[in-house]
Amino acid sequence: MVERVSDIISFVGIGSNLGDPVGNCRRAVELISSINEVNVLQESSLYRTEPVGFSGQDWFINCVIEAGTALSAHSLLEALQQIESSMGRAREARWGPRTIDLDILFYGRDIVEDDELVIPHPELHKRRFVLAPLCEIVPNFIHPVFGISVKEILDSLEDKSEVEVIKRPAT
Ligand code: ATP
Ligand code: CA
Ligand code: CA
Repeated sequence: MVERVSDIISFVGIGSNLGDPVGNCRRAVELISSINEVNVLQESSLYRTEPVGFSGQDWFINCVIEAGTALSAHSLLEALQQIESSMGRAREARWGPRTIDLDILFYGRDIVEDDELVIPHPELHKRRFVLAPLCEIVPNFIHPVFGISVKEILDSLEDKSEVEVIKRPAT
């Protein structure tokens, strides 16, 4: 689609640790690009990351994309959930193994808090596996609740779980 000045800039966190996690993350980016009214502007590298919060499962592949969108935050969530379902994500344990997980990290500078949606994502500031790819593409983005950049959050993070870059995005 054509980028429009009225688009909201949103960041989406992508993760997978079942099946072919690299292929799943790449496929998810393709499917997000194909949503009407969503325009993928930047894509981080893929990262291999240690599971946090639910041990004894395989390492994850994670990445973050920046997208311009004319969709509301709730419509974007709905579109992302359709992609999760279409990629075969079953109802799985929270933080447990999954084929694909698509989380809205930021939606412009909006703060949203209702039963379906909390934005900024309430865990992102604690997670190296989100902050590392996010800082690769927008280190200076100011967290609308904490008022400091995502790079500053990453630099003072207590989460010491391992995160390593594995691949450049395909060009
Ligand atoms: P976490 O949210 O801690 O990363 P999770 O991704 O494993 O955990 P899910 O089972 O994928 O959690 O999602 C549970 C619900 O979270 C979804 O049904 C959705 O309504 C809600 N949700 C709230 N805020 C967001 C957000 N910013 N992005 C995606 N889903 C969200
Ligand atoms: Ca998640
Ligand atoms: Ca999720």
